Amino acid sequence: MTSYLTGLIGSGIGPSLSPALHEHEADRHGVRLVYRTLDIEVLGVAPEAVGDLVHAARRLGFDGLNITHPCKQLVIPHLDELAPEAAELGAVNTVVFRDGRAIGHNTDVTGFAQSFARGLPDAPTGDVVQLGAGGAGAAVAHALLNLGVDRLTLLDTDPARAAALAEALAGRFGPGRALSAAADEVADRLADADGLVHATPTGMSAHPGLPLPAALLRPGLWVAEVVYRPLETELFDAARAAGCRTLDGGGMAVFQAADAFRLFTGLEPHTERMLADFADLAATPA
Ligand code: NAD
Repeated sequence: MTSYLTGLIGSGIGPSLSPALHEHEADRHGVRLVYRTLDIEVLGVAPEAVGDLVHAARRLGFDGLNITHPCKQLVIPHLDELAPEAAELGAVNTVVFRDGRAIGHNTDVTGFAQSFARGLPDAPTGDVVQLGAGGAGAAVAHALLNLGVDRLTLLDTDPARAAALAEALAGRFGPGRALSAAADEVADRLADADGLVHATPTGMSAHPGLPLPAALLRPGLWVAEVVYRPLETELFDAARAAGCRTLDGGGMAVFQAADAFRLFTGLEPHTERMLADFADLAATPA
C-alpha cells in the first residue's frame, strides 16, 4: 500500500483539525497517510528552530509539511524553491519534499480563492473592505486581488500593518488597487462597499465579540469570515440576520488542506467530502 508521512509545524497546534482532515481523505483514497503535529511549544524550541525541524523531517523521509504561525516566514530561507504565490506573499504554509528538494507553497491564498468562488459566486468585487492585515489577512488580500477586486481597503487596529500590506499589494497589483485606512473609519469605508472580509481573531472562542458595530451590516453587502472556530461567529450570525450573503471561514481551511493534500500525494482530493468532515470536526469544541 502506498504510504505518506506528513505533518504540521507551528505553535499551539494541538487542537488542529488538519491531521483528521488529511488522514480521513487518505483513507477514502485507499492510501495510508500519517499526519503528525510538531508543536514548537511542546518541543520547547524557538520559532527559529523551524529550519532544523524541516531538515530533520526531510532526512526522516517525510513527503511534506504544513507550516503555521509563527513559522510561515521563518521557514523560507530553509527551502530550495518557492511556488509563485508563496514568493509573492513571502509566506509558506506547505512544504513538499521532492527529488531531494524542499519546495514552498502557499495554499492559504489558493484556498481562500476557491472558497470564495464556491461560496459567493458572482459576488460584486468592485469595492471591498478588509479588517485585519496579519498573516491570514495578507493571504486573503492577495487572493482577492487575484480574483479581480478593483479596490481593496485594509483596516487594522495596528495602522502601520495595514499601510505596509497595502503598499506591498499596490506595488504588485497596481496603484489604487489596495489602500489602507484607520480602523475607526470603518463606517465611512463600508458605506459604498460591495463586500466585507473579516481576518482578525475577533469571534474566536478566546476573543469573543464583533469586530465592528452590527448596525453597519446591510443587505447588499456580502460578508466573508476567515475565523472558523466557531464556524458561525458572532459576525457571521449578525451578517445573516442583517440579510447579507455570507461565507464562513471553514471553506478556506478545507480548500487549503485539500490543495496541500494534492501536493503531498499527487491524488485529487474530494473537496465536498472534506467540507462535510470539517463541519463535523468543527462542531466539536477545540
Ligand atoms: P494575526 O495576529 O497575524 O493578525 C490579526 C490582525 O488583526 C492583527 O494585525 C491585528 O492588529 C488585527 N486586529 C485585531 N483586532 C482587530 C479589530 N477589531 N479590527 C481591526 N484589526 C484588528 O492573526 P492571523 O494569523 O492573521 O489570524 C486571524 C484569524 O484568521 C484567526 O482567527 C485565525 O484562526 C484565522 N485563520 C483562518 C484560516 C482559515 O483557513 N480559515 C487560516 C489562517 C487563519
